[in-house]
Amino acid sequence: MAVPKKKISSSRRGKRRSHHALKDNKVIECPNCGAEKMPHHICPSCGYYNNKSIIKLGKKDNKEDKKEQT
Ligand SMILES: [Zn+2]
Repeated sequence: MAVPKKKISSSRRGKRRSHHALKDNKVIECPNCGAEKMPHHICPSCGYYNNKSIIKLGKKDNKEDKKEQT
């Protein structure tokens, strides 16, 4: 079994771990409804992505979905 030849010093270990911190989740405003949403994700409050209705949420979007199907 491979075994480390030398003990990693606390300085060297700390330098390696300096990149391990978690970053904040990025949040952007939905261009359609203005709600906070994750980038590159469908808006959870209106169901829009790339200015198109992807999933129908609520009763308002039902008419638009029927037009897209036909
Ligand atoms: Zn939205």
